[in-house]
Amino acid sequence: MDLPKQIELIFRENSPLATKLSEEITKLAPKVTEKTGLEKIKVMNFCGSHEWTTTHYGLRSLMPREVELIPGPGCPVCVTPSSDIENVIKLAMDGYRVYTFGDVFKLPTVNHYKKDQIGSLAMAKAAGADVRIAYSFVDAIEDAKKDNKPSVFFGVGFETTIPSYAVLFAKEKIPKNVMFYSATKLTAPAAEYAVKIHKASKRSPVSGVIGPGHVSTIIGAIGWDFFPKEYKIPAVVTGFEPIDVLTGILTILKDLYTGDIKYTNLEYKRVVKPEGNLYAQEEIREVFDVVDAIWRGIGAIPKSGLDLNEKYSEYNARLQLGLKEKPWDYDLPPGCKCNEVTLGTAYPDECPLFMKACTPARPWGPCMVSMEGACAVWARFGSSQKVLDALKEVK
Ligand code: SF4
Repeated sequence: MDLPKQIELIFRENSPLATKLSEEITKLAPKVTEKTGLEKIKVMNFCGSHEWTTTHYGLRSLMPREVELIPGPGCPVCVTPSSDIENVIKLAMDGYRVYTFGDVFKLPTVNHYKKDQIGSLAMAKAAGADVRIAYSFVDAIEDAKKDNKPSVFFGVGFETTIPSYAVLFAKEKIPKNVMFYSATKLTAPAAEYAVKIHKASKRSPVSGVIGPGHVSTIIGAIGWDFFPKEYKIPAVVTGFEPIDVLTGILTILKDLYTGDIKYTNLEYKRVVKPEGNLYAQEEIREVFDVVDAIWRGIGAIPKSGLDLNEKYSEYNARLQLGLKEKPWDYDLPPGCKCNEVTLGTAYPDECPLFMKACTPARPWGPCMVSMEGACAVWARFGSSQKVLDALKEVK
């Protein structure tokens, strides 16, 4: 299919603007590489929804050869360590009711494939445990109030979800029979970690970043200021329409070309303020302490997670139920490359198990579970040969 036709199909409503953006990107990219000496203009996203837009709409196919779009750590479910899932499974098997979100329900532990192991909350439920899927923390609380059964909410999420936890604690809405197991994570420290990994490796460094739109509504566009300041790479906050992502990429190219390296929130002002949501930030500070956190397949990233502070310690499931923190050990099932996929050092289809032993229907590793996981996105919408072959087999 020729490029104009492809653009028209992707951008039915706004193909003239998309054509203009695409042409400008194609024109500017070689000038940027020539001027900066970059081998590749590597643009990293930090949000599963940006990866979804990029892959679903085939934006990579519109890029000139100089521009590479890579997914980064943008899925909170994918990075929830196996030890946390194992702890919560144990609570469920010990008689606690466990609430969690639908994608976490299916998340496999490192041992899920072993005989006689209960390797996910779904398997715990099948074995008779009281595990319930909740659409929100509010729903879980309302349900838990009905019968006063000792319950634990498995709280996974980035800054977008965390305020929905914090505000209920701050407003004293949590009944005494509900405890909270925090597996919450902060995006910026992991984004910085990923960029450092690329810088230190033999691969080309990250040249620009697309800041996550949802997270930025909470932390503010200024939350990405450290990339231009400390790493001399431009950062843009964008929305999730394909036009948003193209505009973000073009903005990065323009900054690289002019040398005006900065963070920009040009076109997502409709949602994101420079300072973010100050109310949400205040509620998070009121309820949580920043802690070092384990990211699945990666290990500890300093100050990249949150746990309930002392004031709310009576609700802290880890503390109250004596769950020991295990030192981090490699926590991916054999052959799974989720650590590399999460850090953007491998594409999903570089994993030998992709669309073979690991599919959305039967995920082998954590990046194949949630719709925010890069492997799940590529499996559903990618156009790699492996996906096409697998689809042929299904047909
Ligand atoms: S395809 Fe499956 S096994 Fe491979 S990296 Fe992705 S989640 Fe892990």
